[in-house]
Amino acid sequence: MSILNKPFHTTYNTAPFSEIKNEDFLPAFKTAIEKARAEIDDIVINSDHPTFENTIEALEYSGEELDRISSIFFNLNSAETNDEIQKIAQEVSPLLSEFSNDITLNEDLFKRVKSVYDSKSEFKLNTEQKTLLDKKYKTFSRNGANLPEDKKEQLRAIDKELSQLKLKFGEHLLAETNKFEMHLTKESDLSGMPEGAKEAAKQLAESKGKDGWLVTLDYPSYIPFMTYADNRALREKLSKAFGSRGFHNDDLDNQDIVLRIAQLRYDRAQLLGYKTHAHFVLEERMAETPEKVNSFLNELLEKAKPAAREEFETLENFAKDLDGTSTELSTGIDQLQKWDSAYYSEKLKQKLFDLDDEQLKPYFKLENVINGAFTVAEKLFGLRFEDIDTIDKYHEDVMTYKVIDAEDNLVSIFYADFFPRAGKRNGAWMTSYKPQMIKDGKNERPHVSIVCNFTKPTKSKPSLLTFNEVTTLFHEFGHALHGMLANTTYPSLSGTNVYWDFVELPSQILENWCYEEDTLKLFATHYETGEVIPMSLVEKIKASSTFHEGMQTLRQLSFGLLDMSWHAGESPETIKSVKSHETTAFGKTSLYPDVPENCMSTAFAHIFQGGYSSGYYSYKWAEVLDADAFEYFKEEGIFNKTVADKFKAYVLSQGGTENPMTLYKKFRGQEPKPEALLRRAGLLK
Ligand SMILES: [Zn+2]
Repeated sequence: MSILNKPFHTTYNTAPFSEIKNEDFLPAFKTAIEKARAEIDDIVINSDHPTFENTIEALEYSGEELDRISSIFFNLNSAETNDEIQKIAQEVSPLLSEFSNDITLNEDLFKRVKSVYDSKSEFKLNTEQKTLLDKKYKTFSRNGANLPEDKKEQLRAIDKELSQLKLKFGEHLLAETNKFEMHLTKESDLSGMPEGAKEAAKQLAESKGKDGWLVTLDYPSYIPFMTYADNRALREKLSKAFGSRGFHNDDLDNQDIVLRIAQLRYDRAQLLGYKTHAHFVLEERMAETPEKVNSFLNELLEKAKPAAREEFETLENFAKDLDGTSTELSTGIDQLQKWDSAYYSEKLKQKLFDLDDEQLKPYFKLENVINGAFTVAEKLFGLRFEDIDTIDKYHEDVMTYKVIDAEDNLVSIFYADFFPRAGKRNGAWMTSYKPQMIKDGKNERPHVSIVCNFTKPTKSKPSLLTFNEVTTLFHEFGHALHGMLANTTYPSLSGTNVYWDFVELPSQILENWCYEEDTLKLFATHYETGEVIPMSLVEKIKASSTFHEGMQTLRQLSFGLLDMSWHAGESPETIKSVKSHETTAFGKTSLYPDVPENCMSTAFAHIFQGGYSSGYYSYKWAEVLDADAFEYFKEEGIFNKTVADKFKAYVLSQGGTENPMTLYKKFRGQEPKPEALLRRAGLLK
């Protein structure tokens, strides 16, 4: 039997990375799936009348070994992968989805779950148990378990077509992105670009056997060109290529796919008894209904629009002053266009703030920043982080800590993995190797991890972070605290297992401490001189962080409103043209002249390929929450013990055991209001 199927004999039961071989995974998965199936069968064949314990709780605790193996495997596939692991992932993924489908389609299992659900008043359930019952029941009902056979079949057919269409949407988008290349042969065409970006464009050309420079629609190539290139006509060309992906009436066009996805989602929702797809999705969100989301977006729009207009006018005047008359590189600005936005914003920002990463980095040595995050956690929640070297790790760069509370109780094991490697994917994230839960009366503590891609130290210089990396570290550390301080009974309600529009509150709120003088004094000291970061620099960081906040807000709101327009309206049957539907949806948020060749929806992967449909609003929603919550800290003191205790008691430790609005109100005393965000963003005077 594979080592993964046996109990781990390690300190704190951590994953024995050094003993696991790649070939262990597949057999371990298969064995664990069989065990989990047997556990489900035991629930189904139980001759006792269905109860909360013998059905809901039994289902919740089933498959523990499978979950443990899955988390180790998929965490490695993200942080330290190789061809072999990727191949195993391809083999394992269908096995796992087959297993989870077999559970949600298991009619005998559903009968027992429904029996408990229908007679829930007979069982004396606490709040967490009620939430768990509701959640388990809905996994079945939202997948059609209550439908008659013919409608069940209809639902399966819709799901099948939807997953194929989403795949196709993504394939088209990727092909459209890769198809376009802007080949430049005159160095003057790259005028304005930083040396590094020019170099990258040259290397890209070389790698394809071409002379000169190549610019593509991939972000690392596209963004610098749109931000710095002086040649306006080329910016226009690149911008239009980017903005018209999936909108060329050819075999890579996404218009019909968009219309069909919207229709199928609507049909699916109707089949299950919901008014629209958005009603279906939002049932399991803090925002609850499309009406609430729409009024949320529109309220912010009304408040942000005057500031956005003002910023736009200032930017247009700035551009006219700078480039009003026509030159070799520019036709002379008489009206600001979309392809001017990043370019002149950057120029104006430079003029106003004169702030760059190199000035700040010496104050943010990685070790100092980590200690700063730990000190904040100690001041707020009484946590202490001790280095521990007896824990097995998957790479030598990984740092390991034992987290204890004021009474020396173990709170969590914490892994931190900061530097890029070939086998690590981009970005930064928090994850866990073992969930917190109370089982058989024992509170099992979690094993939490954060993974980032920060600048590596060199022989002569330590790892010095940009300010953006500092806030990223605090962000992921906030998620980690949510995981570490979890204190619930059931693992599927523990830690970060909360509604989607609530999960970014702990992470985003922690970023706020990075802008506070009292926090920066704790850790932002120059790595050579020990001098504390000058407050003039801190003021600049703050001021530049809200630069063009009105326009940024309008942009985010426009995407949220577009998303809702596709998913919360009357039957999509009435929508005949993707472009004109979109133009109407953008009506209240547009600042720049429309570009007829462009279409956003045909490249809006978040909602037509990924999982963000009826969920784009949550970016702003989370900002409102974190600003409102942090304002409470500001009112009482950013290290105030009482507020921190409440945040821990009602938010960080509660996971998804209760409706997030109820939890939030217990913490804050009232529902979140947008004013704090507007103030922080400088949109309310
Ligand atoms: Zn996050």
